[in-house]
Amino acid sequence: MLDKFLTQRLAALDGVSVDTSTTFAQLTTLRVGGAPTLAVSCESAESAVAALRLLDQASVRYLVVGGGSNLLVADGPQDIVVVRLAFDALDVHVASGLVRAEAGVVWDDVVDTAVAVGLGGIECLSGIPGHAGAVPVQNVGAYGAEIADVLTQVYLYDTSTGEASWVPASALDLAYRYSNLKFTGRGVVLAIELHLSTDGLSAPLRFGQLTQTPGERRPVADVRAQVLALRASKGMVLDAADHDTWSAGSFFTNPIVPASLAETIQARVRDTHGEDDAARMPRHPLPAASTDAEGALATPSAPESTEPAATRANTAEPLEKLSAAWLIERAGFAKGYPGSGPATLSTKHTLALTNRGSATAADIVALAREIRSGVQDAFGVTLEPEPIWLGVSI
Ligand SMILES: Cc1cc2nc3c(=O)[nH]c(=O)nc-3n(C[C@H](O)[C@H](O)[C@H](O)COP(=O)(O)OP(=O)(O)OC[C@H]3O[C@@H](n4cnc5c(N)ncnc54)[C@H](O)[C@@H]3O)c2cc1C
Repeated sequence: MLDKFLTQRLAALDGVSVDTSTTFAQLTTLRVGGAPTLAVSCESAESAVAALRLLDQASVRYLVVGGGSNLLVADGPQDIVVVRLAFDALDVHVASGLVRAEAGVVWDDVVDTAVAVGLGGIECLSGIPGHAGAVPVQNVGAYGAEIADVLTQVYLYDTSTGEASWVPASALDLAYRYSNLKFTGRGVVLAIELHLSTDGLSAPLRFGQLTQTPGERRPVADVRAQVLALRASKGMVLDAADHDTWSAGSFFTNPIVPASLAETIQARVRDTHGEDDAARMPRHPLPAASTDAEGALATPSAPESTEPAATRANTAEPLEKLSAAWLIERAGFAKGYPGSGPATLSTKHTLALTNRGSATAADIVALAREIRSGVQDAFGVTLEPEPIWLGVSI
């Protein structure tokens, strides 16, 4: 609980301001959610450390909010303090390829600046909304690249010690849409450091929509332009005028399932959608040792399965990553579903749940539940939400 005395101490810190009028609807790209008890804005890493330390010492619950593009917060008042990191120095060293960005830098500005000077490695991550401080949190990724490929270290405020220090990326357990900063309250990223390539070429391209020749490297600016165009066509670049972008991006992670479940699903698609469609089902076998490296397994929930998920996860059976969007479509949810109402699937991409202008968090949650149970009923796979949820559960 936040008392008046603590609010006054926070407000008195150098480089810290507080307000009680900000709402999560204003702070998030889904544009839903009630008000936190207090919003604290910090103008430097030092002021952030001082504010975070005070909050931790008082055991006050807080949430760092960057661009709010991966957050779904409940309607109504929320008993939580929002911390905003409003420092945004960006340091790009062209000769070495080292880039340091403070937490508050808009992520796409990091990409744009790096690409403009010919540094390579993050061009596929063009157009991802949010701030630099958040990119390690869920190891952002797109088009075959992820931040883990280039992240060297983060300047981390450690909640257990109240101190900030540079921590190697290897200490973050980065995996598919995961790091040990997600859901854990372990720390707050105050700055990131990347090591990019300096020869003007992209990272080796792996994604089919970007290249027909896997491993090809192309000029970074070309790849960035192509990625931005692809993303815009799917409503994955923020645009206030386009409700398809009033979303949290991909709402569900791609499920990772035992190969036998993938077989079962493909057989079901064969029955319901025919041989040709079943043959096109995206199935990406994972390397044998990747159970941990690829994050949590989707919970197998086929009616015939009585085996607990944890047991199945520990079997030596090979794993495959499936496409959540493809499964959602085959479960009967088309783009734009249900066609009208305050919350619908994006008209450009089945994986994004969107606010058409008047949605509440409850509307988004209701749609998420419907999609999730539809996929569960059709294929026995429980989709896992990708955004951080606050005050709501699926
Ligand atoms: C249109 C759209 C497209 C998207 N496309 C992609 C995509 O292609 N790939 C992808 O991976 N994601 C994508 N996302 C999701 C989102 O943009 C990323 O996860 C992004 O990194 C979130 O940044 P943010 O600053 O908005 O974080 P927020 O939403 O503000 O916060 C998300 C979580 O990170 C925590 N957090 C934020 N900053 C810090 C910090 N400095 N230190 C510690 N914790 C912190 C928050 O407390 C919260 O738990 C997309 C979202 C949208 C709306």
